[in-house]
Amino acid sequence: MYPDYLHGPPAALHTIKLLLIMMLFIQSANAGWLNEDADIMGTRISVELYHANPDLARRGIATVFREMRRIDASMSPYIKSSELARLNAFAQQQPFATSKELFSLIRRSLDFSELTDGAFDITFASVGFLYDYRNRTRPDKTQREKAAALINYRELMLNHHSTTIAFSKPGMRIDLGGIAKGYAVDRCISLLQELGIKQALVTAGGDSRMIGDRWGRPWSIGIRDPRNEDKLAAVIPLLGVAVSTSGDYQRYFEENGVRYHHIIDPGSGDSARELQSVTIIGPDATTTDALSTSVFVLGLESGLELINRMSDIDAILVDQTGQLHYSDNLQSVKKKDDDVKSSAARRTP
Ligand code: AMP
Ligand code: MG
Repeated sequence: MYPDYLHGPPAALHTIKLLLIMMLFIQSANAGWLNEDADIMGTRISVELYHANPDLARRGIATVFREMRRIDASMSPYIKSSELARLNAFAQQQPFATSKELFSLIRRSLDFSELTDGAFDITFASVGFLYDYRNRTRPDKTQREKAAALINYRELMLNHHSTTIAFSKPGMRIDLGGIAKGYAVDRCISLLQELGIKQALVTAGGDSRMIGDRWGRPWSIGIRDPRNEDKLAAVIPLLGVAVSTSGDYQRYFEENGVRYHHIIDPGSGDSARELQSVTIIGPDATTTDALSTSVFVLGLESGLELINRMSDIDAILVDQTGQLHYSDNLQSVKKKDDDVKSSAARRTP
C-alpha cells in the first residue's frame, strides 16, 4: 500500500507517458501542414495546406509560388517584357496576337463589364496609369477628363479565331489588376488539386480560395477594419469558397482631406468614394476578385442590388461611416453579429 502522497508519482508518470504519446500524435498529424508566405505580384502571397506526405505538401507550396511568378511575368503592367505590357505597346497600331490564356482572361473581364454595366472595365488603365500612389501623383482635372474619354471596354476589338486584340483608339491601355490575382489563386488551387492536395487556403493580397477544412473546422477569414489595420470588422467561418476584399486603404494617398486610391470609377476617371471596403464570397476567386472591384465602384445600393440578383454570391460592404451592410443571404450572419453586439452592450455598464 502506498501512502496517499505517493499516489502522486505513478499518476504523474502516467500523465507524462500520455503527454508523450499525444505529442507524437500531434507531431505526425502536424507533419503535413505547411504555411508559407512570399512577396510576388506586388503583394503578399500566402499558402496553408495539408498533405499526409510532407514531400508532397512542400511540392504544393513550391507549385503555388512558381505559378504566381509565371502569371506575374505575363500579366504585370510593370514588367516591360510581360505579354500585357507588349499588348499595351502594340495593340494601338495593329491587332496583337495574344496567348489563349491572356485572351480568355480579357474575355472574362469583358463579361464582368457587361454584367456590371461598365463598373468593371480593364480600360480604366487609360487614366489609371496617370496615378502614382506611392509618389502621390495624380492627373489634374483636364488630364483626367481627357484620359477618361478613352475608358470604354467596347473599344477593345477581340478576334476569337486568331486570339488577337486591337485597341480602337490611340492612347488606350488595359490593366488586369482587378481580376488577375483572383485568377492566379484559382489556377493555384487547380494545380494543388492535381497534386492530390485536398485541404488548402491560397491567398494573394485580398483574394483567397480554400478547399477542404482546416483541422476539421472551417477556415476563419477576417475582414479588416478599413480605418484600423490592427482591428477586424468581422470574422467569417468559410468552407469551399473564394473570398475577395477590395478596399480604399490598399494603395492611396490623401490630399486636402480627399483620398485618392486605386479603384477607379470608369465614368469619371477618379477614385470611387462611396464605400470603404467590399468583401465578396463566391465559388471561384476570379469571380470574387472582379466583383469586389465592381461593387466598390457601383456603391452601396447598386452594388447590393447586383449581388442580391446572383444566387451564388454574397457580400459584406463597409460604408463611409464604417457601418457594415450584408447581402440578403448573409442576413443570418448579420443577426448573429447584432446579437453578439447587443449582449456585449448589455454587459457594459
Ligand atoms: P482590387 O484590389 O481587386 O479591387 O483591385 C484593384 C485594382 O483593380 C487596381 O489596383 C487596378 O489595377 C484595378 N482597377 C481599378 N479600377 C478598376 C475598374 N473600374 N475596373 C477594373 N479594374 C480596376
Ligand atoms: Mg478585385
